[in-house]
Amino acid sequence: MNRTRLAVVLAILVAVPLLGYAWWQQTQGDPTLTEVWDPEPRIVSPGDDGAPPSDAVVLFDGSSLEGWQHANGSPAKWTVADGAMTVAPDTGSIRTARGFGDCQLHIEWRTPAEVHGDGQEPGNSGVYLQNRYELQVLNSFENRTYANGQAGSIYKQFIPMVNASRGPGQWQSYDVIFTAPRFAGDGSVTSPAIFTVFHNGVLVQNHVELKGSTVYIGQPAYEPHSDREPLMLQDHGELVSFRNIWLRELSPQ
Ligand code: MG
Repeated sequence: MNRTRLAVVLAILVAVPLLGYAWWQQTQGDPTLTEVWDPEPRIVSPGDDGAPPSDAVVLFDGSSLEGWQHANGSPAKWTVADGAMTVAPDTGSIRTARGFGDCQLHIEWRTPAEVHGDGQEPGNSGVYLQNRYELQVLNSFENRTYANGQAGSIYKQFIPMVNASRGPGQWQSYDVIFTAPRFAGDGSVTSPAIFTVFHNGVLVQNHVELKGSTVYIGQPAYEPHSDREPLMLQDHGELVSFRNIWLRELSPQ
C-alpha cells in the first residue's frame, strides 16, 4: 500500500466513526439536554383591537392630558376631543412629565384632512424619543419632500425603507422599538440610539443607529443625557392629532 492509499484509509477509519457519532447524537441523544426552562417569560395580556397590553404605560387614553406638560413645565394646552389630542396653534410642543429609556412605543396620528402647502408644511409634527431624537410626522401621501424628512424618516438621518403613508385625514400608526444611547462617565458615546419603526404595520426603519440628536441645520452630534428622558410631540403649527399612545419600558430597572 502506497502512502496516499494509506492516508485515505486512515481518514476513512477516523471520519466514519465521528460522523456516526454525530448522527447518533442528533437522532438518538437526549433532547432534554437542549431545553431551557428558566427564566420563564412573565405573562403579558395582549391588548384587543389596538388596546395597550397589560404591562404598558398608557400615556394618552383619549380622555385628558394628564402627565403631559409644556417644555417650561406648565400644563399642556393642546385640545382634547373625540378621544384624540390635537396641536393647539402657538402653544408649543408637549412632553411627558416622566422620562423613559429603552422602550416599545405605540402611537397613532392623523394629519389634517385639509392640506395647505407642500413639502415640509402639511401635517408636520414629530415624535421625539428622549426629547431629542425625532421620528418625523408629516403628510407624505402624494407630497414629495427630501426623503430623509418625510413621514417615517428619522429626521435628516435615515430615509424610510418605503413610503407606507395613508392619506391626509386618516389615522396612521407608528410602532417603535427604541434603544437609548449609553454614555461613558466622560460623556462619550458607548452605544448609539437605535430605532426600529413600523409605519402602519410596515417596516420602515430596521435597527438604524443614530448619529446624534436631531438637528435642522448641520450635522447631528450626541450630547450626554440621563438614562430616562421625556417623550415629546412637536408643535410645528399644523393641527396634527394623536391618540392611543402607550409604551412598554424595556430598560432594566
Ligand atoms: Mg417634524
